[in-house]
Amino acid sequence: MDHRQALATWQRHGMLPNHHQRLPAHVLQAQIARLKAPVPLKFEYNRTLAYGHVEWCTPDIRRVLCNNPGPMTERGTNTWIVGRGEVTVIDPGPDDPAHRAGLLNATAGERIGRILVTHTHRDHSAGATMLANLTGAATFGFGRHPTYAGGDDGADQAFCPDHRLIHGERILLGSHAVTSLHTPGHCSTHLCFALEPGGVLFTGDHVLGWATTAMKLPDGCMKSYLRSLEVLTDRTDQIYLPGHGPPIVDPLSVARGMAQFARAREARIITILGSSSVATAVEVATQMYRGPIDPVLAKSVVELVNVHLAKLHDEGLVAYIDGAGGQAQWRLVAKGMA
Ligand SMILES: [Zn+2]
Repeated sequence: MDHRQALATWQRHGMLPNHHQRLPAHVLQAQIARLKAPVPLKFEYNRTLAYGHVEWCTPDIRRVLCNNPGPMTERGTNTWIVGRGEVTVIDPGPDDPAHRAGLLNATAGERIGRILVTHTHRDHSAGATMLANLTGAATFGFGRHPTYAGGDDGADQAFCPDHRLIHGERILLGSHAVTSLHTPGHCSTHLCFALEPGGVLFTGDHVLGWATTAMKLPDGCMKSYLRSLEVLTDRTDQIYLPGHGPPIVDPLSVARGMAQFARAREARIITILGSSSVATAVEVATQMYRGPIDPVLAKSVVELVNVHLAKLHDEGLVAYIDGAGGQAQWRLVAKGMA
């Protein structure tokens, strides 16, 4: 059974409603259009899986959903389990006893041999150490989260993998292997994991099907993010299994759409800055969304605008004036001026 057939079976069993087969490409197009016209955002996602239950995706891949819903986590973190007998856990999720019990239940009678971490944010990595201590599993990840003078909200500063992975490193998992792809942007330590055989890519928070990827300073980087999307668009994966939300069954169009959307947003920011002498990140965000931003999302929208502005600043296109966070002031650098 290939992964497409497995996905069809998964869908037939009612685990993934039909409308999730439709690709987010049209959703992305709608978002791009929204930058030009004030239409409401519409994301689609899976509401069927109960917390702590096992969902079989393919004969070798299962998922346990963690009960940590939120605007940035959709219904919660997806923990993926690969293999049978001796299994590999990808993203153990937050340090949450109920989720840990769900993972141990899902693998009862088996052995968790390895724990792979896509990135050092607490909703993905903080459960790794305790699960490793309980099972004897070895942990794998890019490395420690960098230390920033002003801190980095949501970062897991404690996680230190037993094995540090570099881009292109291959790990054998019984009858499978995964290759790590360094994909910074959302987080500087971010890795995607390509499963062989099969065309499956575990994308962590690099590409999600239901939302654009959140980024914030100091660790988020728009230039790295766009380059990391190219890492994916150079590949031929058949399906993405993300850290939150349902599978992405038309991966290339989603990865391309995400890059297109980020570039459209950047162009919009340049246009907005060009229409005023100086603007704060909040003012740019408000104009970008053509009105008040949903208060739940306001903070992350402004953070994302600042990540774009940092890239444009590095490229010499905008100048930083003063302030910090949402009150940071920026101006467009006129042609011929530096
Ligand atoms: Zn996450």
